Amino acid sequence: MTLTEIMQTLPYGPAPEAAKPALDWIKAHKGRFQLFVAGRWRAPASQEWFATINPTNGQKLAEVAQAGAADVDEAVKAARKAFVGWSQTKGHARARYLYAMARQIQKQARLFAVLETLDNGKSIRETRDIDIPLAARHFYYHAGWAQLMESELAGYAPVGVVGQIIPWNFPLLMLAWKIAPALAMGNTVVLKPAEYTPLTALLFAEICQNIGLPPGVVNIITGDGKTGAALVEHPDVDKIAFTGSTEVGRLIRQATAGSGKKLSLELGGKSPFVVFEDADLDSAVEGVVDAIWFNQGQVCCAGSRLLVQEGIAEKMCAKLRARMEKLRVGDPLDKSVDLGAIIAPAQLDKIRRLVQKGIEEGAKLWQPSWALPAEGCFYPPTLFTDVAPASTIAQEEIFGPVLAALTFRTPEEAVRLANNTRYGLAASIWSEDINLALDVATQIKAGTVWINSTNLFDAASGFGGYRESGFGREGGKEGLWEYVQKINPSGSAAVAKPKAKSRRARANVAPTALALPAIDRTAKLFIGGKQVRPDGGYSKAVYAPNGSLIGEVGLGNRKDIRNAVEAARGAFEGWRKTTAHNKAQVLYFLAENLSQRAEEFARRLGEQTGQDGRAELEAALEALFTAAAWADKYEGLVHPTPIRSVTLAIPEPIGVMGILCPDDQPLLALARLAGTALAMGNTLVVVPSPLAPLSATDFYQVLETSDIPAGTFNIVTGERDELALTLAEHDDVDAVWYAGPRAGWALVEKASAGNMKRTWTLPPSGPLPDTDEILRQATQVKNIWVPYGA
Ligand code: NDP
Repeated sequence: MTLTEIMQTLPYGPAPEAAKPALDWIKAHKGRFQLFVAGRWRAPASQEWFATINPTNGQKLAEVAQAGAADVDEAVKAARKAFVGWSQTKGHARARYLYAMARQIQKQARLFAVLETLDNGKSIRETRDIDIPLAARHFYYHAGWAQLMESELAGYAPVGVVGQIIPWNFPLLMLAWKIAPALAMGNTVVLKPAEYTPLTALLFAEICQNIGLPPGVVNIITGDGKTGAALVEHPDVDKIAFTGSTEVGRLIRQATAGSGKKLSLELGGKSPFVVFEDADLDSAVEGVVDAIWFNQGQVCCAGSRLLVQEGIAEKMCAKLRARMEKLRVGDPLDKSVDLGAIIAPAQLDKIRRLVQKGIEEGAKLWQPSWALPAEGCFYPPTLFTDVAPASTIAQEEIFGPVLAALTFRTPEEAVRLANNTRYGLAASIWSEDINLALDVATQIKAGTVWINSTNLFDAASGFGGYRESGFGREGGKEGLWEYVQKINPSGSAAVAKPKAKSRRARANVAPTALALPAIDRTAKLFIGGKQVRPDGGYSKAVYAPNGSLIGEVGLGNRKDIRNAVEAARGAFEGWRKTTAHNKAQVLYFLAENLSQRAEEFARRLGEQTGQDGRAELEAALEALFTAAAWADKYEGLVHPTPIRSVTLAIPEPIGVMGILCPDDQPLLALARLAGTALAMGNTLVVVPSPLAPLSATDFYQVLETSDIPAGTFNIVTGERDELALTLAEHDDVDAVWYAGPRAGWALVEKASAGNMKRTWTLPPSGPLPDTDEILRQATQVKNIWVPYGA
């Protein structure tokens, strides 16, 4: 071969990484791993074991313990016992342990990388350069938060024992995302790695031993889905943090419903990769490579839908095909390989099935001309064009190296297509016009948006979903809230509560003719800016604490809720786009109008609660002022991620919210909960307390005389649980706050699993949550990465 020929072809020679150190480590454990509980290795009570397989060659790597319910119980007990000491350990001491973990991961980085590649099949380039360094970064970053917790999260305490369940696609990295913040905030952990990829978690357990972490602070239990389910159901677990499929996330939502367990879910995605005609096409092509062929496309936020502006679609796809032709699939331990193995034959079957479906549904398939390795679990990079927006491959998470390309004409159409999915994990936008890119970024419903970049992650930036991609954030300051709880909510603005006795009296005592005061009117419902009769035509009596009838309100039903949700959805975009300044003005004006009628409202409160209503009226006015004040002050952050990027963490409204109000302090609850939610840009369907709804129905007139846009604030009176269920089941409702009895919590949380809406459950009485908590519940953080460089 001449030099010219060599220069023209530049064939790759193999550059293999040695597997030996990792295989030796396995051998040192005699090829069998026990459970790591209370700082010691112990055999599973069941004496059952399963094999973990190298997907590249199908060979068994090791045997791993299958934890059963008894083992889960032991691990939870160990974590509970350790919690007493760990939660009281000074932040500085916890920081030292996290720092030690980071150092140890770095010291053993190569071993971790090779082990991960053997167990998972992903390329050594990725494990070595991305997974392991990022895992170490998470421990360093959160060591800092442990150090700062006492000052920066004053008034907050750890949640307790946390059950953590992680998937196979980023085994050590997901472990770091889970364990680092949990420990930093003083929680103890029981973590279950995925069945396919337990080994790096077990190596991490050794680190915990080596650094002298107190026993029980971290427990690692291996097993399958049944082990995960046992952990979810364990009554002494205070929080579950899960990453995995939306399907299992939904099961976990249902299983934890009503248990009071805190929950964060990071689920699937079908993320759009949007390319405008002014984009730098060569960069965008490299972006696609990172978006969909990183980790063989087995990435929850993979840019699996390519949306290209029509004028450049042909050109973009031609460049893409040329690039795909040059990608290399093969032994992931070879450093010049781009795509490694698919995790397991079952996943390979799933990819093949969905690709076949794509062909049957009329999309055009393209794959490179070269052949795959003869053996092992491999799949080639795949491009589908002519994809219909509603087709299976445009809607379902394939979790493989398969890209579905669609075209659009205008930015509006791009946004519509991007949002045409039940998911909302991430998006990538490519344009040289920063105005356009940022405008589109704010309109796409996704927890992370990358501009002219993709798949950037860092511990300082929160990551998590909108819609069926789950809720809760991991990373950044926003991620810490998942692992803390407020100490003694102050209920600072709370006013004297009515006595329990009088509440019971109100519910049970029938009115007597003698006690009957004059009935002023039967309140209707307030939907779309208008007072409307309830669909069913029924009303419901409202009694004073002494049993006398003080009014009637409409008995709303499913249809009324549907109408109210429709009105709220219709109003959402307008209200979301209203400037923060204007939202504040609208709320101040609302407060002004309420204050004009202070006496009337105070009297009404007195009738309903049997107390002097003036203090509550004052508190409600203050709450509306507070909400107005926050409307233009609830700021985001700029995260210092370690690339040249402005990473904006922006709190955004959640969307259409259902708010079921508590029984105590009916006007204050309305003002504080609904006022704050409104200030953050949400539109509302509010169900007042069935025991004390009249302040809310009187509020119609205040709303009518204010500048609240029609449909923004809807009120439906009726039976709380019946209306709560309809709201929780409604696919166009994005969040439900339910204040009511414990049985209702379960009802709402279970029903919310349909579209994975966010829920917040509160007791029916007692102090209201503080404003900082309400603000967080009323928003979701979107991280927008804007890299720069001339
Ligand atoms: P799962 O959601 O089933 O697995 C995630 C984790 O949950 C694993 O540790 C798993 O254990 C555990 N688990 C499984 N069932 C339960 C249960 N009932 N209760 C509690 N924990 C449970 O994902 P799979 O690994 O099965 O992959 C299935 C599909 O999910 C993939 O094809 C892919 O499309 C998608 N997926 C999405 C991910 C994402 O981040 N978006 C990540 C992984 C998968 P075990 O591993 O032992 O089954």
